[in-house]
Amino acid sequence: MSTIDRQHGVLDAGTVQELREGLRGEALAPGDAGYEHARTAWNGMFDDRRPALVVRCAGVADVIGAVQFARSEGLEIAVRGGGHSIPGFSTVDGGIVIDVGPMKGARVDPTRRRVTAQAGLQWHELDHETQAFGLASTGGLVSTTGVAGFTLGGGIGHLVRSQGLACDRLVGADVVTADGRLVRAGMGSDEESELLWALKGGGGNFGIVTSMDFQLAPVGPVVYGGAAFFEGHRAGELLRFFREWGASGLPDELTPILNMTTAPPAPFIPEALHGKPVVALIACYNGALEDGERALAPVRALGDVAVDLLGPIPYVGLQQLIDPLWGKGARNHMKAGYLAGLGDEAIDRLVEGYERKPAPQCELHVHLMGGAAGRVPADASAFPHREAPYVLNLISRWDDPAQDDEALAWGRETYASIQEHTTGGAYINFLDDEGAGRVRDAYGPGTWERLQAVKATYDPDNAFHRNQNITPAG
Ligand SMILES: Cc1cc2nc3c(=O)[nH]c(=O)nc-3n(C[C@H](O)[C@H](O)[C@H](O)COP(=O)(O)OP(=O)(O)OC[C@H]3O[C@@H](n4cnc5c(N)ncnc54)[C@H](O)[C@@H]3O)c2cc1C
Repeated sequence: MSTIDRQHGVLDAGTVQELREGLRGEALAPGDAGYEHARTAWNGMFDDRRPALVVRCAGVADVIGAVQFARSEGLEIAVRGGGHSIPGFSTVDGGIVIDVGPMKGARVDPTRRRVTAQAGLQWHELDHETQAFGLASTGGLVSTTGVAGFTLGGGIGHLVRSQGLACDRLVGADVVTADGRLVRAGMGSDEESELLWALKGGGGNFGIVTSMDFQLAPVGPVVYGGAAFFEGHRAGELLRFFREWGASGLPDELTPILNMTTAPPAPFIPEALHGKPVVALIACYNGALEDGERALAPVRALGDVAVDLLGPIPYVGLQQLIDPLWGKGARNHMKAGYLAGLGDEAIDRLVEGYERKPAPQCELHVHLMGGAAGRVPADASAFPHREAPYVLNLISRWDDPAQDDEALAWGRETYASIQEHTTGGAYINFLDDEGAGRVRDAYGPGTWERLQAVKATYDPDNAFHRNQNITPAG
């Protein structure tokens, strides 16, 4: 009988055929048409990974079938939603990728302002459905990110100060556990509330989420926002402004981000600026347009705005604005944490890091937190870092593998230079593969042990370990 190669042995082709016959979706093995496309990871650093099988699930039954198959064959499992894992967790050499990407159903209940979203949706797809009713939930800055992976990690985006993190709006989920059972996470008397708590920031540790229920909020459809670009030599001035302005009691409706970058060759940027260092003050004001204009007036008052793209913009337009800059295939690495403050010394370190960045696509992001996200009690979810004023994300992105060492060193060295100004916490959506200690930093004492207990209930064998891993209690 023919076989399918995998890293630690072979898969019997007859067994694989049985799996295929039980699926509504497809199971792709090396050599099958579509395998190469299906196996590809978003992060080019992991482009060489060759799973023994990629199961493209059409529905919950396929997910159950794939989990049971993986467990009985002893295959290492990687779970894929939108595919944006920075550390490449959603692919695996010689194992099985269980890809929920084809599961794209969404049902909006405009009266209750709820949506049930299948786990394969990306943010632009879910926004499309919810914005038809003037509603939304917090999505990511790049709308091709998967709803499921993003929300399971927390979820910080343009609505974080007005609506909280994505996980704060999660009110229920269907989950296939490691033993192939479908369980319902939620707050109802017949639902599993501790599992819901764990899904709000605990990542993909507890099973494969097949759908998520979100409490939506009125958003737009036109918001006041976009970006104001300043010449890069003003980075220190902009950071100081961001510190004072952020501490001046900004309304919850306003979520600003400071991005120290290089002007991309994008149609919305004048050609003369392409390739030049720029600092972008990116903002979303989810409220009355005239209030948004007033709230952002201090940014314009800084003067000499190189490109002023602030104004009324469809929320979906803002969500998709930078998608073309974040396509598949480039090499990526992140170093991130929470800044305890933006003191002058921290600012100096950030500016030095900015001046040394090794490739145009490398960026330093400072997200202002607080607002609705800051008022959620630390123990209400598995995302406890509610008091941190800023999230810092150092993104290394480059194209040439020959630049790997330099680009990786830049992120690590810049982070090390600023580490004394961080809280020590970690955010798993921006965490690379940095070992168990940093995963614990993402949760801290109390939350970590509680998550370990939930892990022991739903995945005692740690079958789902290709993630920011929480080891089962005991
Ligand atoms: C271009 C880009 C922009 C980003 N912007 C933001 C941002 O603005 N804010 C932010 O907070 N984060 C952001 N992120 C980080 C992003 O939220 C995480 O990488 C997230 O894990 C991606 O989810 P995914 O479904 O797209 O990825 P995948 O690679 O499919 O999944 C990543 C991991 O999530 C888990 N997972 C995914 N789907 C499921 C499921 N159905 N059931 C169980 N586990 C699952 C698995 O552990 C998997 O390994 C960004 C990432 C990229 C690459």
